[in-house]
Amino acid sequence: MWLGCGIAMIVLVSSCGDAQSPTTGSARMSAFSSSDTATPPYVGVDARGVPHYARVTLSDDDRQLLRKVYGVEDPGRLYVSDSSEDRLLKYDTQIKRCQTCYVNSYRIGFHSVRRPGETWEALERRVRSMRLADFPPSARMATTSIRALDPAVSARFDSLLSEGRRLGFVLHVADTYRSPEREAYLMWKGGGRTHTLTSLHSYGRAIDVVVGDGNTRHASTRQHWIAFRRWVTSYDGHDFRVLGTPERTWDWGHIELPGADIGLPTIQAAIARARRCQSGVTGETPCDFPPHLDPSVAVRPSP
Ligand SMILES: [Zn+2]
Repeated sequence: MWLGCGIAMIVLVSSCGDAQSPTTGSARMSAFSSSDTATPPYVGVDARGVPHYARVTLSDDDRQLLRKVYGVEDPGRLYVSDSSEDRLLKYDTQIKRCQTCYVNSYRIGFHSVRRPGETWEALERRVRSMRLADFPPSARMATTSIRALDPAVSARFDSLLSEGRRLGFVLHVADTYRSPEREAYLMWKGGGRTHTLTSLHSYGRAIDVVVGDGNTRHASTRQHWIAFRRWVTSYDGHDFRVLGTPERTWDWGHIELPGADIGLPTIQAAIARARRCQSGVTGETPCDFPPHLDPSVAVRPSP
């Protein structure tokens, strides 16, 4: 049963305006399960590529907690990005209405330039109002060194690139580690390059790669890039991820390696972590997941 946009009821909708609900009774109940391992019903996207936004009834305390700790203004715009093992709770500041209607999405619990208590909507307004001089010089320069990545995964990225080149792909690394300030700078700069302020680049677990001449309007470049993206997703135990599908994306170059210990799988997990991090026990649980970087190389931009 569809009850309309913005109505917080015990019902899932594929999107606002969609009269069809795939929800089953058992699926509805799982939204309220205390288990972090249960698959919530707000996972994945519908046939049009629109997220299954959550429609869950939350207590006032839980809503306030999500807002205070994780910047969630409207829990009805939370969803889980996919149904794979590394599913992540995300938040859209606008309802996405079609596959190519790109909206800004944020990974809940990822570190960023968001201030304590600031909502994602307020952060977007703050970033939009910034001036160039408000960004540190390092935010304006790309880091292209593989050494700037999380030391736990840098060798795997190195192998990915070496093996890809050995197979004949012409690859150029355009970006590796990005500080949260650089993420903010790229969103401020615009141009559709990024739709988020939370990224695995800021954990040193993502790179941007250019294939060939980088121009996807050239048929041969596009072919090579699609072939490379297909190969990436099958390489090394299928652990590497690209955005969208190998054939269709708004970000051709992005490759990431999710971490099992980064991000939250459900709304209930977010509430539970928020409670723990707010409990007052110093050092017990940080609200946002901290990155594991070598500070001596991570902050140094390429010349
Ligand atoms: Zn990227």
